[in-house]
Amino acid sequence: MTVPSTTDASPDKVVLITGASSGIGEATARRLAVAGHRVALGARRTDRVAALAKDIRADGGSAVHHELDVTNLESVRAFVEAAHDQYGRVDVLVNNAGVMPLSPLDALKVDEWNRMIDVNIRGVLHGIAAVLPVMRAQGAGHIVNIASVSGHRVDPTAAVYSATKFAVRALSEGLRQESRDLRVTVISPGLTRSELTEGISDPGVREAVQDQMGIAIPASAIGEAIQYAISQPLDVDVNELVIRPTAQG
Ligand code: NDP
Repeated sequence: MTVPSTTDASPDKVVLITGASSGIGEATARRLAVAGHRVALGARRTDRVAALAKDIRADGGSAVHHELDVTNLESVRAFVEAAHDQYGRVDVLVNNAGVMPLSPLDALKVDEWNRMIDVNIRGVLHGIAAVLPVMRAQGAGHIVNIASVSGHRVDPTAAVYSATKFAVRALSEGLRQESRDLRVTVISPGLTRSELTEGISDPGVREAVQDQMGIAIPASAIGEAIQYAISQPLDVDVNELVIRPTAQG
């Protein structure tokens, strides 16, 4: 008996990753490049994405980098255009850039609320706006949005962060329903080792969250889930994956 192949035969997709300068974005870039995909890396810390792209090329992979601020639509368009000019197509966008300055609502850290809305929601929408015309013209494409376990549940200090991640899931489901040519995947990580908690300005909240990070899984575990989703046959759309540490409650 012949077992049909369960993976997409074309390993060399062009994959754009936002927030590729650390954590999940960086680990995903390394993993996908090793698998033979061509990656375009965007972030504000251009020294980091430049060094990562150089590293990937030194290991025989294909990578370019571009300065990117996802809160600015023109910046996101320029990132997509540069990758398209370089590689001639855009197969996958990983909307990964995100911030998580947790705090109780009573602290009224309104600037931080707005930053989460700008990066985690507007940033994802800007990514969608920048690639949608390209993918529709190609008649194919895949948008992978990084939500969170906080997109499935709400906890104290995480009200605004959760709201942004619930929004990412809602946007993804709407896009999926409106699309017959695009694949849409939501990846919801649990506690994952990265630089994310460094952006928590409240020392008490930061310490409490960093204490929980003892059980965190490596960022490469999320990269592996993304690789699984994009490697499926083109008529198979992996819609939602939740990846937590085994020990996470
Ligand atoms: P990191 O802080 O390590 O990475 C966040 C990335 O986002 C960085 O590369 C940063 O790059 C980028 N970023 C932030 N703001 C902007 C911006 N305005 N424009 C472009 N890029 C930006 O954290 P993670 O790797 O953990 O985070 C990645 C995603 O995973 C986020 O969406 C986060 O919410 C999500 N997540 C993480 C979990 C965890 O436990 N780590 C759990 C659940 C979800 P730069 O500063 O250079 O611009």
